[in-house]
Amino acid sequence: MLTDKLTRVPIAHLPTPLEPLPRLTTKLGGPELWIKRDDQTGLATGGNKARKLEFLVADALAQKADTLITCGAAQSNHARQTAAAAVKFGLACTLVLRGEEPPQTRGNLFLDRLLGAETIWAGEQPLDERMAQVAGELQARGHHPYVVPLGGSDRTGTSGYVAAMEELLAQCAERKLDFEQIVLPSGSGGTQAGAVVGARALGYTGRILGISVSAQADPFRRVLAGLATETAAHLELELDFAPEDLDVNDDYLGGGYGVLGDLEREAIHTMASVEGVLIDPVYTGRAFGGLLDMIRRGDFRFEERVLFWHTGGTGGLFAYADTLI
Ligand SMILES: *Cc1c(COP(=O)(O)O)cnc(C)c1O
Repeated sequence: MLTDKLTRVPIAHLPTPLEPLPRLTTKLGGPELWIKRDDQTGLATGGNKARKLEFLVADALAQKADTLITCGAAQSNHARQTAAAAVKFGLACTLVLRGEEPPQTRGNLFLDRLLGAETIWAGEQPLDERMAQVAGELQARGHHPYVVPLGGSDRTGTSGYVAAMEELLAQCAERKLDFEQIVLPSGSGGTQAGAVVGARALGYTGRILGISVSAQADPFRRVLAGLATETAAHLELELDFAPEDLDVNDDYLGGGYGVLGDLEREAIHTMASVEGVLIDPVYTGRAFGGLLDMIRRGDFRFEERVLFWHTGGTGGLFAYADTLI
């Protein structure tokens, strides 16, 4: 395994299912669509962060940490999964969340509370700054905090998606499947950067397209390339990545991060009503909405096989219930 050099704890239910989407494929008239179910990783309603946390929690335990600190938006799936992983390994968890406390505790925030995480509202203060402050306060009281960066996207967490790519390619080999393109949502970048490292290391030559949910393509490609190169070095793979190696589409940013628009709404309804699969407003709804738009514009050939990587978000879906139906 590409990640054998790192310590890892078991968290996610792996391998996640790789399934065809026959009804959607027929409805759209091609390309041949498949889905990789990382919404089924099993960590308190699943999602992609479970894969990253296998390496992050192992690192925290190796450093004798007693508390995980991480950050995100009020409806962060990453925060919720980190809270669940902390419980599973007997660690405390502090979540630094952007903005002010909302009037209602719904979706992921409800789950954060249920999982016993402490929540701190950062207002407008930069999240990294506030996390460092919280870590300092805990240290002063004799604790050993471990700070997980936004989205778990450092070289340690990103290694989870190098392993995920290895898992996917093994499933493809076993089932004699080949995907011309892989489409996934890209936020803090660890999912895409890790997949790209795994692809290069294992000789996958198809396209890996990240649909950006928040960042402009240009600065983001540089971030992704840096993260991919760092992650490869961490795994003792001699691979270098340039911004041009990363494929990012930023056409679907709409009203900005987490703002539900018609694109996401239609995508969520389509996936639910045609395939019975739940996707979320912030990440997978935007990415799948982008994919639907690209299909309608004729960006894919009829006979191409395209994989949509479902990265989760089920916990957040419920916070948007009023505006979805
Ligand atoms: C965090 C998240 C993503 C984005 O993954 P990154 O590694 O941060 O780019 C995509 N989908 C869901 C549901 C997420 O929670």
